[in-house]
Amino acid sequence: MIHAVLTIDDLPSQNTRAIVDYLNSKDIQALMFVVGGWYPGSRENAVYALQHGMILGNHSFTHPFFSELSREECIEEIEKNEEFLDKLYEDAGVERRFRPFRFPYGDKGGENKEFLQEYLKDRHFNKVTDTSFDFPFWKDMGLDKDIDTFWTFDFGEYNIRKGSGFTEEDVFKRVEDPYPEDGVNVLEDGRHHLLLLHAHDETEELVPEYYKHFIDYLLDKGYVFDRPEFFDA
Ligand SMILES: [Zn+2]
Repeated sequence: MIHAVLTIDDLPSQNTRAIVDYLNSKDIQALMFVVGGWYPGSRENAVYALQHGMILGNHSFTHPFFSELSREECIEEIEKNEEFLDKLYEDAGVERRFRPFRFPYGDKGGENKEFLQEYLKDRHFNKVTDTSFDFPFWKDMGLDKDIDTFWTFDFGEYNIRKGSGFTEEDVFKRVEDPYPEDGVNVLEDGRHHLLLLHAHDETEELVPEYYKHFIDYLLDKGYVFDRPEFFDA
């Protein structure tokens, strides 16, 4: 058996509702990361996700590279999106119990890294429970200490873009690779994963319902999707 918590980045998109409906049909609760300043036109899709059982986290307000920002700008990106999320939860009529955060591009802020981790701690952001993640890189990279939500495996399906030449087959090649460069064999029995998918409308346009293909495949391979759990902040 392989356990995984599913995270989906870059909400809210046009395909958010369809993703949420699919996940509910499989009894999967995902942790979805919202970029409040990106798609104001489909804000109601994020409300829909909340009202249908998903947990929403903070992915910054405009999705910048944090290492290119000043400390003040970093804080503004986080806090502006916190306000956006508080309002989303309020509008959805759902209690906000957890405050997970994910850096865009996994960019933890360069020279401001320690400062930002302290900030996330002081502001009581919630760390995803990671005590069962036993990939060596998790500790080597200090991810066991960090408050933000990283991942053990990124499908990389956002690379499927017009003109990129990257296809769904390329994603599956990586998923099925028994000896990947980074040592993360997705199909190895007994592992615990924090998986990363994206809700990108361009992917949807090129490969309709791409998320089903990947998740159905993993379910077939014996994956069990756990509900996201968090350490007390
Ligand atoms: Zn993102």
